Amino acid sequence: MAKSKAKLSWPLIGNGHIFEFLAKSLAKENIASSYIFTGPSDLGKTAAAHYFARSLVCQSQDREVLPCGQCPACGQAAKGLHGDIYLIKKPADKKNISIDQIRDFIRSLGLSSFLNSYKIGIIKGADSLSESAVNALLKTLEEPKIKVVIILTVDSLEALPKTIISRSQILRFSPVAAGAIYDDLVKNHGASRSLAKDLSRLAAGRPALAWKFLEDKEYYEDYRARVSSFGGLLSPDINQRFGAIEKILSSGAAGQEAVESAVKTIDIWQNLTRDLMLLELSLADLVQHEAFLEELAPLKNKLNLAALLNLTDILKRTKLYLGANVNPKLALESLAVSF
Ligand SMILES: [Zn+2]
Repeated sequence: MAKSKAKLSWPLIGNGHIFEFLAKSLAKENIASSYIFTGPSDLGKTAAAHYFARSLVCQSQDREVLPCGQCPACGQAAKGLHGDIYLIKKPADKKNISIDQIRDFIRSLGLSSFLNSYKIGIIKGADSLSESAVNALLKTLEEPKIKVVIILTVDSLEALPKTIISRSQILRFSPVAAGAIYDDLVKNHGASRSLAKDLSRLAAGRPALAWKFLEDKEYYEDYRARVSSFGGLLSPDINQRFGAIEKILSSGAAGQEAVESAVKTIDIWQNLTRDLMLLELSLADLVQHEAFLEELAPLKNKLNLAALLNLTDILKRTKLYLGANVNPKLALESLAVSF
């Protein structure tokens, strides 16, 4: 007798409706040939894709808990060595996932499985597929193969052509409540209560970001440096402003990486600007960067509400310039002199 639902051993939080749906699909072996996991970044979409893939290749006999974590397939998958699970993403120094990457990916999925198991291909950040890569992928989706599953993760469906969307099962991920992230950090990741409080707030609904902050010291320090540079940007002294920009640009990144690094900084500056507005409005409870309040407080009276709104517009415009291939140095320097 087929069970109506498998129990999932996935260490993920929030978005229960999605996991419920996938648990039922696994129990009934009612698996689509392609899925799109969509929602803002760092909600754990790629982690969910991995656990779904691991559940599909798991060789457990009763399939009561998936993945079982005990069988040889689970052992290999946990180490990232399972021969039937593939992942591609955009190389850090490239603007797109290339047609060559997609061709290799499709070829691998076309080979027969080692153990007559499912073959799963995950495309992380499918919004960065080049146009020719999209067309190649579309051809594959038009001729689905038995036991081949493709999972695309995207921040927004708008980035994908309708032809791909219409052939896929869409699962929409939402931000996770800060309380749930806090509990997860304390119970499952060994964080202290005060650290969990800061990080759950800082993560703003994105559990995968909270895990990164907790586990990747370098990532957290890099984030902290970008927060600190905001003080320089708000300085009335133009030299200090340029100093802040210079610091961001001198991170060693070049080309596409420099552009992405600049966009990341602008994102953080936008959120810091919003935090200053919240402080101005006496809504400290809603401030995202509570962990950095010591650095934020001295900036509070540098710009009034109208000036902060103006800065929000300018930051938004700078991001558009960066997206339109304006040189990052030029875009950031023009930001420094425009408010
Ligand atoms: Zn297993």
